[in-house]
Amino acid sequence: MAEQEYDVAIIGGGPAGTTPAILLAQKGRRVIVLEREKFPRFRIGESLLPYSMGAFDRLGVREVLKSKAMPKNGAEIATACGSRMVKFYFKNGFRLKHGDAFQIERAVFDQVLLDRAREVGAECREGVHVESVDFREDGVSIRTNSGEVRARYVIDASGRNSIIGNQLQLRRPYPNLRKFSCFGHFTGVQRDEGIDGTLTRLVRGEGFWFWLIPLDAERTSVGLVMDAATFRARKLSPEAMLEAAFEASPLMKERMAAAKRIGEVHSAGDYSFRNERFTGDRWMLAGDAAGFIDPIFSTGVFLAIQSGELAADALDRVLDDPACRDRLFAAYQKRVGGIMDKYLRFVTAWYEPEFIEVFTTPAKRFQLAAAVNAVLAGHVGFSWGIWWRMELFYLVCRLQRKVPLCPRITDHITLEPQAA
Ligand SMILES: Cc1cc2nc3c(=O)[nH]c(=O)nc-3n(C[C@H](O)[C@H](O)[C@H](O)COP(=O)(O)OP(=O)(O)OC[C@H]3O[C@@H](n4cnc5c(N)ncnc54)[C@H](O)[C@@H]3O)c2cc1C
Repeated sequence: MAEQEYDVAIIGGGPAGTTPAILLAQKGRRVIVLEREKFPRFRIGESLLPYSMGAFDRLGVREVLKSKAMPKNGAEIATACGSRMVKFYFKNGFRLKHGDAFQIERAVFDQVLLDRAREVGAECREGVHVESVDFREDGVSIRTNSGEVRARYVIDASGRNSIIGNQLQLRRPYPNLRKFSCFGHFTGVQRDEGIDGTLTRLVRGEGFWFWLIPLDAERTSVGLVMDAATFRARKLSPEAMLEAAFEASPLMKERMAAAKRIGEVHSAGDYSFRNERFTGDRWMLAGDAAGFIDPIFSTGVFLAIQSGELAADALDRVLDDPACRDRLFAAYQKRVGGIMDKYLRFVTAWYEPEFIEVFTTPAKRFQLAAAVNAVLAGHVGFSWGIWWRMELFYLVCRLQRKVPLCPRITDHITLEPQAA
């Protein structure tokens, strides 16, 4: 039997779900979050961006997160052989409002947000699996393993499961980003002292890369991303693939020499896609449920929070004035799609060989590095100063293909089967 009607039902208790849950409940809206798992639960996505800090203030969680997280002051990018390396610090980003971010275990982060949603009045049900959504003219009926929930609007924040996106067959994969990733938590990973010990470290080979994210004084999240086709061709388990990749990279071998894995190796594959539409009459998609690009620049949680905020702001107005729905939903689609386009271009460039040659060649001229740094921090609002610098950066990458403006990288390390 159907229950009371909510203003907004949210599918999924990750950051894209709890962000609008908190914001709408704070405005006095009747909100329900339906989460299929019981928290705390493992999730990947532990390195956050400075431009989420403003949202954490708005959500009222910055201080509690600070007490549970490592600070993150920037990132380091190195080649797998260890011959080239560059570090950047958010404090040097082009006119950045936020100079640091958090590195945090997702089980902890997501629990803080879910607790906050409950605290401000959202009803949060765990262990509730959404099976499908029926759309009515005046609202939605959500079928779950424990009955039906009715609401005026629904936000699908079910992550890459994308319940509504799949139901309406909106999913479009990015053919150039068919990747596979395996990852786990380790102790004893080599780490630099001081502020450098807070950086996200990226180690890039040809067709693959690693992340190293410090989670606390002991533990580091370490992951490998590679072409899905190469993973299949190697015929290894995710555990064995991870070990083989450490072996293949002199830099990773050194960093992992004293490392011990704690817990299992997790894996994910073919995760990059975008849904054709993010809104309908009674629904909005937020976070990964709208689309996921690639983990390289740690934009996933940032986009989840950003889209969650935008969805909440739009729905809060639409609930009072349904006549403005089409305009606000169209603006949402344009804004979220625009941010995804920016990062998609950046991610696509990352997988070109020239990117790393340009990126690891320090250039103070024109403040190019500072502009790239700002985009990596989540500065996605329009800024002329950043726009032309990024265009110049892409131009240099394109020219590098033909003319070596920056020193070439010659010691290529690959995970292709013939190289093993
Ligand atoms: C390999 C890899 C590494 C990554 N690293 C980073 C990183 O360093 N930094 C970063 O910012 N991002 C990273 N990401 C991306 C990040 O994991 C996601 O972008 C982020 O979790 C999206 O948040 P979300 O709330 O949209 O979805 P999720 O966090 O996936 O939350 C969705 C929730 O919906 C629930 N759910 C799903 N189906 C149902 C259902 N049928 N009924 C009810 N509930 C349901 C799930 O249980 C889950 O709790 C990475 C991703 C990958 C694949």
